[in-house]
Amino acid sequence: MPAPITYDVAIVGGGASGLAAAIAAARAGDSVIVIERDVELGLPILATGNGRCNLSNAHLDPARYRHPDIARTVMGEHPEDELAAFFDSIGLLTCEVDGRLYPYSKRADSVRDALLMAVAPHAELRTCTDIVGAGFDEADACWRLEISRPTKPLSPPKKPITEFKALVRALRKELRCAERTRETVCARRVIIACGGSSEHMAEMFGLPHIAEEPVLCPVACRPADFLRHDPRSIAFDHLDGLRVDCRLSLIRDGAPLWTEDGEVLFRSYGISGIVVFDLSRRCSAGDVVEIDLFPIYGEAELVRLFEARAAVFGDPAQMTAPWFCGLLDGRLGAYIATIAEPDGHTCGAYAHLAKHLALEVLGTSEHASAQVRRGGIPFSAVTLSDLTVRPDIAPALTICGEALDMDADCGGFNLAWAWLSGLRAGAGR
Ligand SMILES: Cc1cc2nc3c(=O)[nH]c(=O)nc-3n(C[C@H](O)[C@H](O)[C@H](O)COP(=O)(O)OP(=O)(O)OC[C@H]3O[C@@H](n4cnc5c(N)ncnc54)[C@H](O)[C@@H]3O)c2cc1C
Repeated sequence: MPAPITYDVAIVGGGASGLAAAIAAARAGDSVIVIERDVELGLPILATGNGRCNLSNAHLDPARYRHPDIARTVMGEHPEDELAAFFDSIGLLTCEVDGRLYPYSKRADSVRDALLMAVAPHAELRTCTDIVGAGFDEADACWRLEISRPTKPLSPPKKPITEFKALVRALRKELRCAERTRETVCARRVIIACGGSSEHMAEMFGLPHIAEEPVLCPVACRPADFLRHDPRSIAFDHLDGLRVDCRLSLIRDGAPLWTEDGEVLFRSYGISGIVVFDLSRRCSAGDVVEIDLFPIYGEAELVRLFEARAAVFGDPAQMTAPWFCGLLDGRLGAYIATIAEPDGHTCGAYAHLAKHLALEVLGTSEHASAQVRRGGIPFSAVTLSDLTVRPDIAPALTICGEALDMDADCGGFNLAWAWLSGLRAGAGR
């Protein structure tokens, strides 16, 4: 058996941060191998931004990140400029929509293609390959990674498949049944870029790990506690599927914690939508979420508006739900009229409910649709300047992307972290 080649850098995971790391390492003159367990590189990128890939934000405010100080330190003073230069350097033209950055094509595959074009000539790319063991060889000062891969390349499906997603599905199916073999890969440095499920990698490399939990997902809730025992609260289910532009506020122990405007999608179990995904990073069971259906009006102003309306359309106490006709979706009007019952159907009560529609948080929900996972390898284990693991924990090891304990709001902040932490990790020596 010939001795295995020793690469300067082995990158575990060929997603957003791994590919950025590979580009940076290759540009620094290192020999690079990318080890990806899936059938193709960069597949997670294709699912982002509903297939359009919201790849960054025009204002990468550290406050949008779980650890603002760490985000500021790692991402630098001018992360927007650095990312613009990075995208330019791989030939990726971007455009901005309401502060969110997208590829000009508005297609996530453009982002993946540009990354692959930039990395392919300068790195060895191994797909369908899993790491099954890792040990640092002190004598040779390099990592020995035991990898498992199919004995022979996956064969293309007999019937030609033109749709990429279908092709990936077919190849994944074949990979599951493929006969496998093991070999050793040696690298002077390893970069872990395995994404949000990093527990196994942490265990393999002897790293500390914070339990992961899905965030950026829907939130399960029910009408707030004054209605807890009221069977009429069932009317909440009737809102399922309704989309409303509103202002969401998170309230804990009576104190407001956070507010954001956006579109809420009501579900039978709770609420969803991008603004709710951001809420999911902050809320806990027992918190109250208030929905303001008329954020452009103050409450007193809304009472006056409702009184003027009552003068034209009639008394809300007489009409109840139909009184909201032309003002709110019928289901929402009916819901407000239902929960107004104990206080009566006055303009004041209606205006108050329309400004403070209160829901009690039960927890996050639909975890399979979560965009990121909170937790991972803690920052206490790495040096922030280059994301290298502290030498007393493990030698010649760097972490980037979602494998670290970092998450952020929707809006391109998570991918911005993946690119920038990947660039730092790849450039470090
Ligand atoms: C549906 C969806 C939509 C999203 N939309 C956006 C958006 O529009 N904007 C935004 O900023 N963020 C978005 N995100 C979040 C964003 O995708 C992640 O923050 C980002 O991909 C993290 O990059 P990463 O490189 O750390 O991990 P990933 O991109 O997940 O890459 C990790 C890679 O490592 C591979 N891997 C894992 N374990 C191993 C192993 N043991 N051996 C070898 N390979 C391994 C995986 O197969 C994967 O290819 C979205 C996420 C989802 C799920």
